Amino acid sequence: MKRATAFYLLVMACAAVAAVPPTLHAAKVAVETTSADGTVTTEEVALEIKDSRAVFRWPREKIPANVKRIAVWPDFAEARSGEDGCWVFPNNRMGRFTRAEGRAYESWGMFMPCFGMATPRETFCAIATGMSYSLSAEVTVQNGVYRMRALFDKYMDDLYEDISVEFRLLAGADADYSGIARAYRAYQLERGACRPITERVKDQPLLDYAVRHPEVRVRMAWKPVPSPVLEQVTRNEPPVKPVVTFDRMAHFADVCREVGVDGAEFCLVGWNVGGHDGRYPQIFPVEPTLGGEERLKACVRHVQDLGYQIAGHSSFRDCYMIADTFDSEFVVEKNPNGTLRRGKTTYGGGRLYTMCPQRAYERFCPKQCAEMATLGFKGLFYLDVVTARPIFPCPDPRHRLNNGQRATWECNILDEVRSVFGGSASEGAYDFCVGSIDSALTIQWCKPFEPPKCKLDDAYVPFWQLVYHGIVLSTPFRTMINCTANPDRRSLLKLAEFGGRPTYYVHSVFVTGRAPSMGTIDLELTTEEKLRQSALWIKEGCDDYNRRRALQFRFMDRHEDLGNGLFRITYSDGSRLVGNYNDAPRTVDGVQVPSLDYVVLPPARRTEM
Ligand SMILES: [Zn+2]
Repeated sequence: MKRATAFYLLVMACAAVAAVPPTLHAAKVAVETTSADGTVTTEEVALEIKDSRAVFRWPREKIPANVKRIAVWPDFAEARSGEDGCWVFPNNRMGRFTRAEGRAYESWGMFMPCFGMATPRETFCAIATGMSYSLSAEVTVQNGVYRMRALFDKYMDDLYEDISVEFRLLAGADADYSGIARAYRAYQLERGACRPITERVKDQPLLDYAVRHPEVRVRMAWKPVPSPVLEQVTRNEPPVKPVVTFDRMAHFADVCREVGVDGAEFCLVGWNVGGHDGRYPQIFPVEPTLGGEERLKACVRHVQDLGYQIAGHSSFRDCYMIADTFDSEFVVEKNPNGTLRRGKTTYGGGRLYTMCPQRAYERFCPKQCAEMATLGFKGLFYLDVVTARPIFPCPDPRHRLNNGQRATWECNILDEVRSVFGGSASEGAYDFCVGSIDSALTIQWCKPFEPPKCKLDDAYVPFWQLVYHGIVLSTPFRTMINCTANPDRRSLLKLAEFGGRPTYYVHSVFVTGRAPSMGTIDLELTTEEKLRQSALWIKEGCDDYNRRRALQFRFMDRHEDLGNGLFRITYSDGSRLVGNYNDAPRTVDGVQVPSLDYVVLPPARRTEM
């Protein structure tokens, strides 16, 4: 009952800020249906607004079989160029109302099935509550008039439920992108889609440690990527390159302790046969060139004896023909006639296929988790890719999954991992299994200090973090991995601004022929000097993180760009983090903030009793 009480208080706290009633009492949406043959029909629907909410529902029986797209235009989603306010997409894209013409469209980057708009008249958070994985969002500007609409334009041949959108109307202190994010967070908490970290640490003691310390991923071995052999078999398998043996890893942990890294959660990548993505779903034997199973177990014990946490990396998604368990029955990429769709992408194991998550669970997940647990791993166990890509259906009639069912099976996999190892981690920001995940390696893949690509965008704001900080640990930008090794100090400050947990990736650079996704700043263990330097960079990350890690247990409630290179973040306990991107100190909220640095201010003292 304790949990229920805390949850209730939380929901009430979220609801308390939304007390100002909206001005609207009724609204209309125009529903535009486009069929595959180009026919367009439009219908107007009146929505009743109750308790600051309006729900649009479009029964699937009403939708023609050849539908291609359904667009939902609310009449209140309109602003004029020059007005105050903004629009926001769920992948942190934000634009002000300053242009005369243009279009912004988001489909791939719908990390969460929501978007919002704040105008001088209305602010709303739109949430797709039916067919949510088909949602895209669009902003158009014509003759200085901005309009925003929901588009259902993906997987429309697989309608498995009614289309519905809930509009939450916001006012007063909620009438900005922070308020829009809080509205979606409240929705997720109310329906029990996820629980805050403060609640989960009671059941997941290892999560508490992970929250307080950086993640250090170590890539140990790999075969060439891209693979010179398309379909690998054991006779033509390219040689594995062992880079960090298990004994070397144990030594690295010793040096981390020696230089004063007070805590870290290590994650071993490529410990399995063939190294990183060697032969999935085959994982055993433990890669012999790294020292084999007994040396791995000794390494895990040694790292734990030093007081660190250590988990592993695996995949229940990527699969390769070289696996001793390969079976085209579980491959998702199939043509309508049942033949395999052979793509061009290769990784260490050769041509990449992906497994249906239902089959991955049934055939591999609980069994392999039990096997991997015997190696001693404990902590946030990492599953590659899962949350870094939008979900898509599995067409195989033997285990057909629509997107809703697919999400359930992805959750089953993550729940298993969490129950066996104490926590679960994956690669990205998609929230279809947010209740089953503890950490996300990358929220945005773009570069934070380069201007956004779309001409309507003004900035990247921590919209995802305003929703999920205090619920899921994250690193905000891919290039922010190995932050303290980056001579551009803005990177470390941006990590603090977006509430990120510091993440390191030793030997992040391994792919040939294309730019490394995490940037060229790497940590290496190839020489004693580089190994020691890597440990020192991690120590620097710990020291910085210690100033603000207590905030990870709080929600991020407001983000404010104060102009002139200054910002302020307000957390749910009233703490503030104020930062300064200038090359000279500045005063914010009465305190001096050094150049390229931040200060954490405790909650303001209450004067009333
Ligand atoms: Zn399937």
